[in-house]
Amino acid sequence: MASTDDGSMADLRADGGDASSADVEAAKTHAVAAVDGDPECVLCSSAADYFLFEAGHVEQFVCWEHVSPHSAAVEGDPEETPEGRPVALEL
Ligand SMILES: [Zn+2]
Repeated sequence: MASTDDGSMADLRADGGDASSADVEAAKTHAVAAVDGDPECVLCSSAADYFLFEAGHVEQFVCWEHVSPHSAAVEGDPEETPEGRPVALEL
């Protein structure tokens, strides 16, 4: 019990997403398949252009207008994406 002094720091490190590109693609494929019809943006209900994914936190569709506030890593490599920021895969 000697390592519980700084919980916030530990949380940041423990939260590191280690999703590989294959995991992200699989999640997107699964999410698309789960939608009945065409995916819609969760914010404005227009046709979705991107799938936002962060392992264990975010799995949702967004349109091009709403993707930028949520992710700066459009078509980004998950391994180069800062922790805590979803990657956006173009549909
Ligand atoms: Zn939208």
